[in-house]
Amino acid sequence: MHELAIAQSIVEAVEARALECNATRVKDVHLKIGEASGIVSDSLTFCFEMLTNELPILVGAQLSIDTLPHRARCHHCDKEFVIENYVAQCPTCHEWSNDIISGTELQIMHMEIETS
Ligand SMILES: [Zn+2]
Repeated sequence: MHELAIAQSIVEAVEARALECNATRVKDVHLKIGEASGIVSDSLTFCFEMLTNELPILVGAQLSIDTLPHRARCHHCDKEFVIENYVAQCPTCHEWSNDIISGTELQIMHMEIETS
C-alpha cells in the first residue's frame, strides 16, 4: 500500500502550490507515471480521492494519469525498444547493456485551479 504514501506526497505538493496561487479549488491534477515505477494507478486514484475528500480546496479534484512505457536505448546498436516484464535485453542485437529512457517516472505535470 505504498500508493497511500505517494498520494499523500502528491496531495501535499498540490495543496501547497494551490495555496501559493491563491486557488479556491483544485479541479484537475495531471500525473505522468512510468509503467515500471511500481505504482498501481487504481490504488493511487483511490488514495487520492480518500485524501482529497478531507481538504476543502481539493474536494472533487480529478486525477488524470498518463502511463509511460518502460523504454530503453541499446548501447550496442543504438536502437530504442520497449522493456517487457523488466527484461531489458535488446530485441535486435540481444545485448543487455542499455540506458533507460522512460518508464520509471512519477511527475505532477500540471493542475487546473479556480481562483476567486
Ligand atoms: Zn541492440
